[in-house]
Amino acid sequence: MFNTLSDRLTSVLQNLRGKGRLSEADIDATAREIRVALLEADVALPVVRAFIAKVKERAKGAEVSQALNPAQQVVKIVNEELIGILGGETRRLNLAKNPPTVIMLAGLQGAGKTTLAGKLAKWLRGQGHTPMLVACDLQRPNAVTQLQVVGERAGVPVFAPEPGNGVGDPVDVARRGIDEAKRAQHDVVVVDTAGRLGVDEEMMRQAIDIRAAVQPDEVLFVVDAMIGQDAVNTATAFRDGVGFTGVVLTKLDGDARGGAALSVREVTGQPILFASNGEKLEDFDVFHPDRMASRILG
Ligand code: GDP
Repeated sequence: MFNTLSDRLTSVLQNLRGKGRLSEADIDATAREIRVALLEADVALPVVRAFIAKVKERAKGAEVSQALNPAQQVVKIVNEELIGILGGETRRLNLAKNPPTVIMLAGLQGAGKTTLAGKLAKWLRGQGHTPMLVACDLQRPNAVTQLQVVGERAGVPVFAPEPGNGVGDPVDVARRGIDEAKRAQHDVVVVDTAGRLGVDEEMMRQAIDIRAAVQPDEVLFVVDAMIGQDAVNTATAFRDGVGFTGVVLTKLDGDARGGAALSVREVTGQPILFASNGEKLEDFDVFHPDRMASRILG
């Protein structure tokens, strides 16, 4: 992901090399090219506008520097502003003072929630925690079994409704799951929830009810970075419906343009905590805005 954007930005910025001074016209022309590159990568228009305005303002106001030539100064500004739209600092997971920490996953069907539950569990174990997963996606056939499979791979227990009792009530399962985690002294509980193919009222209602019942320390909105501009619309709908405290980007290994992934933090105001870049449990890491910006700028 971001290969095309990365190539475009690198070549725009390379054009500035060797210039002793940058005129206003040079800066305007560069800003225009960056704008086109970002829009073509699917970055949301308001995010692009704000970004370009800041880059232009800072580039025009930049003092003549001994250490950096004008081209390097612009690269530095673009890099810093990119880090800014990606959230600035790395945002750590919020852990409860009195365990268990409850993490609820929300997002559309296919976003990668169930896979993420396994990844998160494995990662948490690596951090010395004793996580447990709770299967509250009772909508999608096989979602419970799929969670049990990833739980087993990650080496963590999964709380699921007993088979044979009909579809079951996800809110009740969530509550009982937390009770079980307390009883068995797991310090983090990850609650997987049902998604739909599109935003719909029933899914939102269910997620709102689960949130109210389990009072999570984190609600992580899981979003497929390959779905383009829709990612921004879905994120806004979830923010206004269920609300969330952080974002997880999935499928960053895809070759889609990925600009939506660059917009979601600015548009929703919530930080990106983790990123997934493959189907395997280890294809997952904490999201670092500075590293992502460096990757994009090549
Ligand atoms: P859910 O409906 O939100 O629970 O989504 P799933 O966890 O079932 O994931 C949907 C599909 O996306 C599955 O085939 C996963 O293997 C795949 N998937 C999940 N995360 C990633 C990722 O980071 N990269 C890739 N390439 N595929 C992923």
